[in-house]
Amino acid sequence: MKPSDKSSESSPTGIETRLVTSGRDTIAQSGFVNPPVVRGSTVLYPSADDLRAHRGTFQYGRHGTPTTRALQDALKALEGPQCAGVALAPSGLAAITTALLSVLKAGDHLLVCDNAYRPTRNFCNGFLARYGIETTYFDPLIGAGIAAHFKANTRAVLVEAPGSQTFEMADIPAIAEVAHQRNALVLDDNTWATPLYHRSLEQGVDISIQAATKYIGGHSDIMFGTIAANAKAWPQLIENVRLLGVCAGPDDVFLALRGLRTLAVRLAHHHQAGLAMARWLAQRPEVAEVLHPGLESHPGHAIWKRDFNGASGLFSIVLKPVSQQAVDALLDAVSLFGMGYSWGGFESLVIPFDCASYRTATTWAPAGPALRLHIGLESPDDLKADLARGFEALNAAHRQ
Ligand SMILES: *Cc1c(COP(=O)(O)O)cnc(C)c1O
Repeated sequence: MKPSDKSSESSPTGIETRLVTSGRDTIAQSGFVNPPVVRGSTVLYPSADDLRAHRGTFQYGRHGTPTTRALQDALKALEGPQCAGVALAPSGLAAITTALLSVLKAGDHLLVCDNAYRPTRNFCNGFLARYGIETTYFDPLIGAGIAAHFKANTRAVLVEAPGSQTFEMADIPAIAEVAHQRNALVLDDNTWATPLYHRSLEQGVDISIQAATKYIGGHSDIMFGTIAANAKAWPQLIENVRLLGVCAGPDDVFLALRGLRTLAVRLAHHHQAGLAMARWLAQRPEVAEVLHPGLESHPGHAIWKRDFNGASGLFSIVLKPVSQQAVDALLDAVSLFGMGYSWGGFESLVIPFDCASYRTATTWAPAGPALRLHIGLESPDDLKADLARGFEALNAAHRQ
């Protein structure tokens, strides 16, 4: 499947073209392909009258610079015709918390899918609760059954598909339909697929969030978040972004824009290599289950095929039961798979995970230890050889 298959038909150019051409004002950039990194707080006004009227393209650094404008224009073109605006945040988590604070107030009720990014849950439980906002977690597979969780004060639903550790696929259009009937907004943490592989705003989502730290940056060298909203959600979002003083640093803005230019080719590789590795792992005797929605065997495969244009390089495996020492032997034996949090860069990663202790609406009870893998841009044969060495070490430790 090509990423452009489900992109907006009203746009004159393919999405890959928009990724390359949007947000480039060559005249303002004195002919250079990329915009300068504008470091700025103060913007000088030419006259007292201009100052009083806040007249001019830019008013103050926190509200935008030529560099942030270039990135916002490019992101808007990527998110598609439903997008009314994009706000920038200093991290993916800040993008999520800013979006939630913008749509909720004391006394409101929030619905969050049970497989959401854990720090998102921590914010709901540790921060929103203190300000009188109640959160209910729901089974990501609930679909239209989410109606049963709505209360008179339910104002928003947060989805994340697939969940970034366990990869359950929520039916976002079905959930959005119920939410809109009940006057609630839908927020989507769309970090896994990016707007290239999942057209959130075209599938009923009101606010589409990216941890741009991951694939948009793409090089493991920035912390960054983006919040794209449709016309219904944008006025409230941008007002609150300004009230909160949320903005992003100039170097990170520049690097996010640079990453965006190559997103299509990087993701195409992550998609192919990730699926190839998932298929290879599914044949390994040490592996009980591969959690990748692009595999025909995955319970969410039909939804993924219907709603997504591709897969990124992140998925998980469940090992057959072995000791922690055996898992550690694998982790210590691999060398191309680095151990570390985050993902979406050019490099492969592996981490063990266990979300049993904090799921509340569903039960996480895998057959054995679970590992999350990020398949980077290395040669797939080298990655297979590296993991094969890891499995040898696991087996040796298991026999002891
Ligand atoms: C990493 C991640 C975040 C948070 O992004 P940061 O930039 O690390 O704050 C949010 N959601 C998902 C799904 C993520 O993977």
